[in-house]
Amino acid sequence: MQGFGLIQLTAKGLYCAEGDFYIDPWYPAGKAIITHGHSDHARLGQTAYLCHPITEKVIQHRLGLVQTETIAYAEERMINGVGVTLFPAGHIPGSAQVRVRKGSETWVVSGDYKCHADGISEPFEPIAATHFISECTFGLPIFNWKSQAEVMAEMNQWWAHNASMGIQSVVFAYALGKAQRILNALNPAIGKIYAHGAVMAMNQTLREAGVKVFQAEGLSDGTKESLKGSLIIAPPAAAGTPWMKKLEPYRTAFASGWMAMRGSRRWQSADRGFVLSDHADWKELNAAVKATGAENVFLTHGYKSAFARYLQTQNYNAFELDTLFEGESLNNKPEEEATHASGLG
Ligand SMILES: [Zn+2]
Ligand SMILES: [Zn+2]
Repeated sequence: MQGFGLIQLTAKGLYCAEGDFYIDPWYPAGKAIITHGHSDHARLGQTAYLCHPITEKVIQHRLGLVQTETIAYAEERMINGVGVTLFPAGHIPGSAQVRVRKGSETWVVSGDYKCHADGISEPFEPIAATHFISECTFGLPIFNWKSQAEVMAEMNQWWAHNASMGIQSVVFAYALGKAQRILNALNPAIGKIYAHGAVMAMNQTLREAGVKVFQAEGLSDGTKESLKGSLIIAPPAAAGTPWMKKLEPYRTAFASGWMAMRGSRRWQSADRGFVLSDHADWKELNAAVKATGAENVFLTHGYKSAFARYLQTQNYNAFELDTLFEGESLNNKPEEEATHASGLG
């Protein structure tokens, strides 16, 4: 067990002994505070799940009937004498940073986050802390995002060009978060917009939680004629599967932060890559760390050793944490979601 004070890293995950709760534990552990609904953070087997109301709906959709309790942003809940508060993380709808405090010690666990607005998630809020546990999926200076408006203008242009030739445009994006962000930012004047069953199911779940999501059409309603020139959103796991057959002729694109890396294997298997991430880029990570005022920074996900070394040169006490969080994978979670909703067309 690695101990730093109020929060420790145990074999099951981040643990607050005084409060007797875990944050995003990766094995069955006990009472869990969940930052957001992605599968590397919300895992089955906890005795209770405390999360934002939107995340509750996502967890119930993905994990089935589990014992949940919700807490609104900025509301402090006392758990065995430890104050626990969720603040928006800007990653996906319902995503939260978790502040844990007692006495003079204040920890903020970022979960996954990004600091630019995406039009669908509650915007990231910097929170003061003495100890900050930050993800750093894209913790290298080469990751420098363009604005969402710029990227979506490129995507709409690509779609319009394909449509003018009577060709379908298939965009692969995470079924939770990324897909809805894109749906809300596409230009429906260009043509019809369809979604894979896994995306349709998640759209519905988010709507039930009060999130406004563009009304895409289900593919079971699509005919050869109505599909012509349309755009189809699908989870990355659907790429290259027989499911694609009925969409022909088409061009494909991935929407992910990894599209910034030319060597990405997935990028090479698609016609286009759009650099659109739900994680912070290099400048956002640095701004977020600075805004907490924390002297002690602990890093999870991605390029943590490079980012830790850099922060050390900036006079932070920076440490790497070995966790089982997965960053922005192009495979794991969407595959699971595709399977989950495979009966839905
Ligand atoms: Zn995530
Ligand atoms: Zn993550």
